[in-house]
Amino acid sequence: MTTESESCLFCKIAAKKIPSTIVHEDDELVGFRDISPQAPSHVLFIPKKHISAVTAMESTDAELVGKLIAAAGRFAREGNLGDFRLVVNNGPGAGQSVFHIHVHMMAGRPFAWPPG
Ligand code: AMP
Repeated sequence: MTTESESCLFCKIAAKKIPSTIVHEDDELVGFRDISPQAPSHVLFIPKKHISAVTAMESTDAELVGKLIAAAGRFAREGNLGDFRLVVNNGPGAGQSVFHIHVHMMAGRPFAWPPG
């Protein structure tokens, strides 16, 4: 782990140093239930690699980050969760509070647009 990832909450979750309810894991990704769910089903998909935000992505991270969306969609489909919303907050002004890139997958209730 780098110094940055040593202090990162989601790196610790991926390394199982902090408990979480993991619903998906493969070589590159982890999906776990949000501790403060904003929908009946609210799962966060993260890469095991520490990337702090969308704006910190290298071009070589594109395929990896795309896999977060694919994993979220597969989870919703296989769980028959119906329509769902994916959210990626970038920066505090957009609601990002954990600086390890993540895709929120929320399902199980209607979602308004614009999201606010
Ligand atoms: P964001 O605000 O987009 O950065 O999303 C961070 C999300 O992480 C929030 O929805 C939090 O509820 C969630 N969260 C924070 N700590 C934990 C934790 N220990 N386990 C699971 N989810 C967490």
